[in-house]
Amino acid sequence: MLACPMRPLMSPKTERKCIGLIGGLSWESTNVYYQLLNQFSKNPHDAWRQPHVIIDSLDFAEIVYHQQREDWAATGEILAISAARLESCGATVIGIAANTMHINAPEVTRSISVPLIDIRDSILRAVKAKGAQSVSLLGTKYLLQADFYSSYIELAGVRVIKPTNAETDELQRIIFDELTQGIVLASSRERLIDIAQKCQSRGGEIVALACTEFELLLNEGNSPFPLVDSTTEHVHDLLGL
Ligand code: GLU
Repeated sequence: MLACPMRPLMSPKTERKCIGLIGGLSWESTNVYYQLLNQFSKNPHDAWRQPHVIIDSLDFAEIVYHQQREDWAATGEILAISAARLESCGATVIGIAANTMHINAPEVTRSISVPLIDIRDSILRAVKAKGAQSVSLLGTKYLLQADFYSSYIELAGVRVIKPTNAETDELQRIIFDELTQGIVLASSRERLIDIAQKCQSRGGEIVALACTEFELLLNEGNSPFPLVDSTTEHVHDLLGL
């Protein structure tokens, strides 16, 4: 069932790192992952150098169905199968191209023998590099209401400030009614900035964009405050930069 229909993509001669990405969570952000993976690999002395990447793009409707029922066993099964499929196709490292679905990091890790590059470690590395000791954590309702993400960050010594319940509902609406459907609105950018600033006023020194679609609204170029973007930092670590 997990056998890859193709031969492994690496031959002994060309053997090198191969990034396996569990994508489609949603495709709007997987698209950005693909762009950044290639852009960050640009090398002026080696014009056509590109990373070897395999993307297993899942049907997000299936994931959303289970998310709405908080059936994390069902999403865990889908992600574990995807990770094993990527490994059987030759991936030497695996990434889940989303923050929320790291709720299933244990199931994914158990299904593979290659390393999972965890997006939470990418956020932590970037926050610590900026010398911050607390973060304003912004993401989906599932990520903010559970503790698989915030306790991971806090165990590493970084204090987490979360939005209020009403602000969390607003972030959830922006993610699911807009960004994951490719709708990018200036009014939602303002709303995201406002929620981030409210978290900052409660003590979150730096803003952590812990939703891979937030990058469509806010980035280091247009942000009025210091931030770390999960998509950018995860790509950095997937490439091993
Ligand atoms: N891409 C998202 C994330 O980074 C949200 C979509 C999802 O719930 O998987 O959490």
